[in-house]
Amino acid sequence: LVRLRARLARSQNSLGKGLLTLLSREHLDEDTWEEIEDTLLTADVGVAPTQELVERLRERVKVLGTRTPEELRKLLREELVELVGKDLDRAVRTESDRETPGIVMVVGVNGTGKTTTTGKLARVLVADGRTVVLGAADTFRAAAADQLETWGERVGAHTVRGPEAGDPASVAFDAVKEGAEMGVDVVLIDTAGRLHTKTGLMDELGKVKRVVEKQAPVDEVLLVLDATTGQNGLVQARVFAEVVDITGIVLTKLDGTAKGGIVVAVQRELGVPVKLVGLGEGADDLAPFEPEAFVDALIG
Ligand code: GDP
Repeated sequence: LVRLRARLARSQNSLGKGLLTLLSREHLDEDTWEEIEDTLLTADVGVAPTQELVERLRERVKVLGTRTPEELRKLLREELVELVGKDLDRAVRTESDRETPGIVMVVGVNGTGKTTTTGKLARVLVADGRTVVLGAADTFRAAAADQLETWGERVGAHTVRGPEAGDPASVAFDAVKEGAEMGVDVVLIDTAGRLHTKTGLMDELGKVKRVVEKQAPVDEVLLVLDATTGQNGLVQARVFAEVVDITGIVLTKLDGTAKGGIVVAVQRELGVPVKLVGLGEGADDLAPFEPEAFVDALIG
C-alpha cells in the first residue's frame, strides 16, 4: 500500500504542487483564484465541482482571515476530501446473503483494463481467503478468455469459458451455475465492451445481466474507466449507465496521469462512488479508493 501511495503521489504531484504554489502566494487576488480554477480544470475535476470548491475555499479564507501557507493547505485538504466524498460507501459487494455466490459483473470499454481488473480483484479476494470462479464472457476479443484464464491459474481460480465468438450471456450463466455447484464465494464476470455499436452493446450487456439474474441477483456492477481518457471516459460512463445499473467505478491507469480529478467528475456524473483504483499493470496494483489518502497524495 505504501508503494502504491508513492506511485499515486508521483503521478498526482503536479496538480497538488500547482495548487499549493498558487495558494502560497502573498496575495490571493482574482488572477490567483482563476489560476487555481484552471489547475483543477486541467486535472479533469469538471466545471461545476471546480467552481464549488473555489467558492467555498474563498469564502472560508475570507471568513477565517487565513493567510499562512499551512492554514491554506489545511483548508484545501479539507475541501478536497469533501469534494471527493469522504462518507460514500466504497465497499465492493462480493458477499451475498444467499446460499449461492456473490456475483460481480465487470463492464467497460475494451482496453480500459477490464480483464486485468477482474484478475487483480480475484487475486485480492483469494488472498482474503475467498474462493472465486471467473466467467470469461468477453467472447468478442479473441485473447480475452485466454488472458482471464491465465489470471485464474495464477491466483487459483477456476475459469469458465465458452466457444470463441460464442454467446456471452450463456458463458455468464454457466459461470454462475458452476460457481454455485462448486460452492465458491464469488463469481466474477468479465464482459465485452464495444462502444461503436451502442445498440449491440446495450442488447448484449443487458442480456448478460438478465440471464444471470435468472439464477440470482447481481450484487455489484463495476464500471472500469481509464483515467487517462479524461472527458471521453465520462461519455463512456454515461452510455454504460444507460445500459446497466452501475454500482461502483474502477478507475484504472491512475499511475499514468495527473488527471486524478476525473474521480470527482465521474462520481458526479453517475452518482456512484469510485471503489477501486488501478495503479499499474502488476497483480498487486489494485487498491481500494481512499479519499483522504488520495488527497494527501495530491497535495503531499
Ligand atoms: P480490457 O480490454 O478492458 O479487458 O483491457 P485489459 O485488461 O486487457 O488491459 C489493457 C491494458 O491496460 C493492458 O496492457 C493492461 O496491462 C493495462 N492496464 C490495466 N490496468 C492498468 C493500470 O491500472 N495501470 C496501467 N499502467 N496499466 C493498466
